[in-house]
Amino acid sequence: MDVVTVRHRDGIHFEGEPHVVADARSAVGDVNIVSHAHADHTFGSTTSSPETIVCSAETAEIAKARSGAEFAFVESTPAIDLVPAGHVVGSRAALFEDASGRRYCYTGDFSIRDRAYLEGFDPDAIEADVLVMETTYGLPKYRFPDQAELEAQIRDWITDTADRPLFLFGYSLGRAQKLQWLASEVSDRELLVSESIDRVNRAIEAATSLSFSARSYGDGELRDLSDEIVVLPSNQARADWVERTVEAVSGHKAGFSGWAVDDGFLYRGNYDVTFPLTDHCDYDELIETVEAVDPDVVYTNHGFDEAFADVLETNYGYRARPLKRNQTTLEEFC
Ligand SMILES: [Zn+2]
Repeated sequence: MDVVTVRHRDGIHFEGEPHVVADARSAVGDVNIVSHAHADHTFGSTTSSPETIVCSAETAEIAKARSGAEFAFVESTPAIDLVPAGHVVGSRAALFEDASGRRYCYTGDFSIRDRAYLEGFDPDAIEADVLVMETTYGLPKYRFPDQAELEAQIRDWITDTADRPLFLFGYSLGRAQKLQWLASEVSDRELLVSESIDRVNRAIEAATSLSFSARSYGDGELRDLSDEIVVLPSNQARADWVERTVEAVSGHKAGFSGWAVDDGFLYRGNYDVTFPLTDHCDYDELIETVEAVDPDVVYTNHGFDEAFADVLETNYGYRARPLKRNQTTLEEFC
């Protein structure tokens, strides 16, 4: 019988025949899945490997725009199916079988909520014996409000702050586009974005029917603001130039992340207000996913992977373990 182990080295390895690798920094498997174009899930540079790379056309386009990495890819193989993961534009979960007929689902980062222009991951449509899932928010305190309610709160806040420039912070790929989307639903205030966000906007526009009206700001343009909405990458929230600019124009700063559930998030970003808008599942949605797929084994990855695997075993009777506890001894000794 074929032995397949799920390992977490450079990417996640399914060491059967063929050797399937997901989300590594280079194409090291016979088949290489790129679940989405966040930097920790895709190639750091152009890959000319003869091996097969499987990802969506949107992911390939966005990865190229972000890191310059160009690679040949297919959107499916006879052995591997991709389905929407609902995380960011182009994100996919992968379904495949090993030689013994055991069925695998690798979620990558995922969300089961339909949000703005994104279709959520549908766990009811998945049949798998082994589920490898991300568990970023795998603690019960990470329960997020209903999506429509949350989006309504954000729209109301944007409407209520029409007298000042707004600075909204979210990841360049994902949150930044949803913030532009929400803002343009309720106002015609000018939208300005950083160059990195503009690059992602353009790549999404090239690969999909979406379009964004935001403009990449030029030198000095943020010095004389009245009611513009500026969307910036979250890692810029405490940058000196941002703090100085916000103060000079009496702007409001808002942070958007599932981590907003933690008080510390507001202070870390020095935000005036925060919203738990996220591209990941909350705790209840992670549980819902496992129950819907109902696999024999669950491997958890990212965030509260250990705590969540414990809950699955103790309260729900699943065999579950964090991927990081499954690392090769080779790695430990070299
Ligand atoms: Zn991601």
